[in-house]
Amino acid sequence: MNSYQPLVIKKSDPSRIEIQWADGHTTLYSAGELRGVCPCAGCVNEVTGVRMHDPRSVPDDLSHSGLRFVGNYAITLEFSDGHHTGIFPFRFLRDHDPRG
Ligand SMILES: [Zn+2]
Repeated sequence: MNSYQPLVIKKSDPSRIEIQWADGHTTLYSAGELRGVCPCAGCVNEVTGVRMHDPRSVPDDLSHSGLRFVGNYAITLEFSDGHHTGIFPFRFLRDHDPRG
């Protein structure tokens, strides 16, 4: 069984994303938490790996919209601060689970 395979991704709450995995684990991100780990080239320097976006700059009331799948390995979405270039692979989402 591939534990990095999501069975359900709930996006009904615009301030949260809940992922239910094939192994029974559930991962919950607030929109702000997901924004804070965004791995895109605008947030992380591709050469040095240094995060250029400050997670502390994320507003508490951040929300998301337009969540959709990228192929069969990732999701992408738009945050209410206008950021929309992040692609979040399933494995990344599991590895960065804010509550382990
Ligand atoms: Zn980003």
